[in-house]
Amino acid sequence: MGIITGKAFLDRLNKLENEIWFNGKKVVGKISEHPAFKGILKEKASLYDLQNDPKLKEEMTFFLPEHIEPIGLSYMQPKTKEDLKRRRKMMEYWARFTHGLMGRSPDYMNTAIMSLASSAAILRGKENCFPENIQSLYKIAMEHDLSFTHTFITPQVNRSQFYWEAPENPISAKIVERNEQGLIIKGARLLATQGGLTDEVLVISAPRSFFDSDGEFAFSIPSNTKGLKFICRESFVGGESAFDHPLSTRYEEMDSIVVFDNVLVPWDRVFFYDNVDAVTDFMNQNSFNNFAYHQVVTRQIVKTEFILGIAQLLIETIHVGDYQHIQEKVSEIIIGLETMKALLEKSENDAELDKWGYMRPSPIPLQVASNIFPRIYPRFSEIIQLIGASGLISLPTEKAFNSEIRADLDQYLQAEGMNAENRVKLFRLAWDLTMSAFGTRQTQYERYFFGDPIKLSSRLYKNYEKDQHTADVINFLNLKN
Ligand SMILES: Cc1cc2nc3c(=O)[nH]c(=O)nc-3n(C[C@H](O)[C@H](O)[C@H](O)COP(=O)(O)OP(=O)(O)OC[C@H]3O[C@@H](n4cnc5c(N)ncnc54)[C@H](O)[C@@H]3O)c2cc1C
Repeated sequence: MGIITGKAFLDRLNKLENEIWFNGKKVVGKISEHPAFKGILKEKASLYDLQNDPKLKEEMTFFLPEHIEPIGLSYMQPKTKEDLKRRRKMMEYWARFTHGLMGRSPDYMNTAIMSLASSAAILRGKENCFPENIQSLYKIAMEHDLSFTHTFITPQVNRSQFYWEAPENPISAKIVERNEQGLIIKGARLLATQGGLTDEVLVISAPRSFFDSDGEFAFSIPSNTKGLKFICRESFVGGESAFDHPLSTRYEEMDSIVVFDNVLVPWDRVFFYDNVDAVTDFMNQNSFNNFAYHQVVTRQIVKTEFILGIAQLLIETIHVGDYQHIQEKVSEIIIGLETMKALLEKSENDAELDKWGYMRPSPIPLQVASNIFPRIYPRFSEIIQLIGASGLISLPTEKAFNSEIRADLDQYLQAEGMNAENRVKLFRLAWDLTMSAFGTRQTQYERYFFGDPIKLSSRLYKNYEKDQHTADVINFLNLKN
């Protein structure tokens, strides 16, 4: 087996019957038909179909020597700079199809699994570490084109430096038993985007403190594992009409709290547990950040291009392009876009082979991009609001256009050069991107997509080579003893 079709993805997901709780009720029946999930699942299914499109198949897939079936290219381990560029092109196809609005398009997590497998050797020979399980998951995932969600953080109970949770009745998921079959996990993890809407859930829990070894583990299990629950937030799908809610009807991904009610994680699914040193080494040295950032930045560039297109169309529609402050605002988007593109290219140009023979994109340009985007994205959203002004509020619905007041709407909501219906369509898109519940979540999503921006900048500070620059100053002032 290899790549699947959209239909195969939906059929498999429906059969899983994952335990999903939505608005106080357990979801029953086909998940692909549920009002809160059908839009995103249809879009995701289309992404799987894209891999099968005869025009794109060659660029979206690759072959392994022992397989006759094509495999999704997001699983390919790059060994050359050309491989990296090939991967980028494939990611661009998926991102363009969703205008960068699906944060968890399958390539994100496929890349994550690929990168963990590429670095699994770090765990070789270390106590309580099972790199072979990462490798076999990677193989299964590739061969079945599995979809994944992930949960890397703990519930927000107390984020102070010295908080330690008592082991009995855990809030944050912990190992409560180690037995012949595997680990028993109890407690909760946050925050799984598309949680319950995927085949598998990847869990990586690094220790918060030296005393927290029960909270240190990594594994991947099927989403329908007994005792595993996904508790959804409210849905941000605005309604059934794609005219009224052009984005939320398609790209509302849902986020869920993941609850482990004494869940058995079989040994062959455990990647590591109870070994702080090995885990710290693995988290510091693996290629997850390199490859995942590479995917994220590719998507964010496509999203920025979409935002630029919307901003410019708003401007042309209401004819405000001659004003300098409007030009300055759009320039801010262009500067952000070109900066991100340059950083992505630099990461590929400066890529290096790691000691296992995989071509890692250079980390610093990607870390810079991941520090910039959480800051500029909320500003992009603000710029759209500032250009659209009251046009983002005076937005009748599709039903209004199909009613007896249509003539009034046609007359009073037209723009010079655009009829009322098209004008409202465009402004509704801008509103859904920046002001609806869906749009404001997008802002929060991009702020925290790769973790806390404060910690990301701290990581950049620590990783950045500064010695040469301090040496220059020391030489200039002749400060040597
Ligand atoms: C829409 C959305 C979708 C998400 N999807 C996923 C997902 O699919 N999978 C997943 O694993 N995660 C997901 N996340 C979670 C994301 O990774 C976290 O939001 C991010 O890591 C920040 O953690 P937190 O939200 O717990 O914030 P906290 O760590 O609780 O931070 C709260 C505030 O306290 C500050 N703070 C906390 N600790 C420190 C510290 N040590 N030093 C300095 N300041 C500190 C922070 O800067 C911040 O201002 C998602 C988040 C959002 C918003």
